[in-house]
Amino acid sequence: MNAAVNPGPAQRSASYYTASLNDATQYPTLKGTVKVDVAIIGGGFTGVASAVELAERGLKVAIIETNRIGWGASGRNGGQVTGSLSGDEAMRKQMRDKLGDDVDDFIWHLRWRGHQIIEQRVERYGIDCDLKRGHLHAAMKASHMGELRAFAAEAERHGMGDQVELLDQHAMREHLQSPLYLGALKNRRNLHLHPLNLCLGEARAAHSLGALIFENSEVLDIIHGDQPAVVTAHGRVEAKQVLLAGDVYHKLEQRQLKGKIFPAMGGIVTTAPLGELAAQINPQDLAVYDCRFVLDYYRLTADGRLLFGGGANYSGRDSRDIAGELRPCIERTFPALKGVPIEFQWSCAMGIVVNRIPQLGKLSDNVWYCQGYSGHGIATSHIMGEIMAEALTGTLEKFDTFAGCKHIKVPMGDVLGNPLLAAGMWYYQMLEKLR
Ligand SMILES: Cc1cc2nc3c(=O)[nH]c(=O)nc-3n(C[C@H](O)[C@H](O)[C@H](O)COP(=O)(O)OP(=O)(O)OC[C@H]3O[C@@H](n4cnc5c(N)ncnc54)[C@H](O)[C@@H]3O)c2cc1C
Repeated sequence: MNAAVNPGPAQRSASYYTASLNDATQYPTLKGTVKVDVAIIGGGFTGVASAVELAERGLKVAIIETNRIGWGASGRNGGQVTGSLSGDEAMRKQMRDKLGDDVDDFIWHLRWRGHQIIEQRVERYGIDCDLKRGHLHAAMKASHMGELRAFAAEAERHGMGDQVELLDQHAMREHLQSPLYLGALKNRRNLHLHPLNLCLGEARAAHSLGALIFENSEVLDIIHGDQPAVVTAHGRVEAKQVLLAGDVYHKLEQRQLKGKIFPAMGGIVTTAPLGELAAQINPQDLAVYDCRFVLDYYRLTADGRLLFGGGANYSGRDSRDIAGELRPCIERTFPALKGVPIEFQWSCAMGIVVNRIPQLGKLSDNVWYCQGYSGHGIATSHIMGEIMAEALTGTLEKFDTFAGCKHIKVPMGDVLGNPLLAAGMWYYQMLEKLR
């Protein structure tokens, strides 16, 4: 079995995604001084998607990445492109003052914007990332079905009724060979994909548009001023603007950012290829996630493995035995997979924000940041990439709507943040038992 919980700098995790990446391009280390319009710190989806947007608008961009493109959560996640911004409800409350009755439409439209961007980009740049449509949001108890019915009604109200379908327990049998579920919402608008190949493909697209990309180049400092710059051990990028897109993996600008975002560790495994069993357990090749606060999520890979993620450690600590923790969940979900070999296991930190609203803001006149999608980052990072590119080129409307949201900044966040988060999740899990 392949395991790499804490890969060192410049090595990718020993994940299924790394084993099946289709672009092994290595970008150089930053040396000397380069000048661009925008310096982007971080080569995950936020940095790379913003780079594509900016390069498409004709700006000269540099991505500066500590490790490799897609090294962080963007290259190690579950690959499920959901229509959730994570903090949708909190957003609705906070944005209503600014947007009035338009708030519902604003959020609903935004929910699906990332899907559009990804599909168009995959098409336009010919990115091979196993892109497929279709999710099941699966119910494990009656209260979950109520939530799914409410979502279906909302989809209907917004003219998306033909994209969703409520399944009862009987209909579930045609979709999953699992005893666990009472029903599900089938969503044909949601996507699933190989996230590392998407991220690498987008980086290649940005590069083809003139973006400079530097790997093995940790940004150690941001110099503020009329002409800001980012500094690494061997070089410097001078820019008109800087975008900090390091999510939970950086320690820059702590005076303003400390206590705003916290790491939760998530683990994922993939089984050996399942052969004919793959089509038996999931005949429609859908991505699945359940309705619990701390949920299981899974899908089939292009070569017929089950890729299964579950739980999340909100204490910020990593698990030593991801396969040992997830095997019982797999076997409970699909009894036919009892004893199935697990060939890859890996973990990764995701950035959690207390109210789950993505954090967009400015650190000074021309230094911006964008982070914190609380586990729903594939579509959201692409939406935010577009919003940040609009903002950096002078259209501030959507940026201001997000930047105006209030966020809790936990005092002594590095010490207290994760214990508070873990306590909050415990509370929600208790509520879950009562639902
Ligand atoms: C286990 C797991 C499963 C998930 N599953 C899903 C899912 O199925 N669907 C979904 O929508 N979302 C999922 N997510 C969330 C999603 O992956 C993230 O929200 C998203 O990838 C964050 O993108 P990002 O670019 O902001 O951050 P990252 O991808 O983490 O990238 C940040 C990058 O910044 C670099 N960096 C940091 N500091 C510096 C510095 N000082 N100098 C230079 N570079 C720096 C890092 O090396 C890293 O590569 C999951 C996350 C995890 C961990």
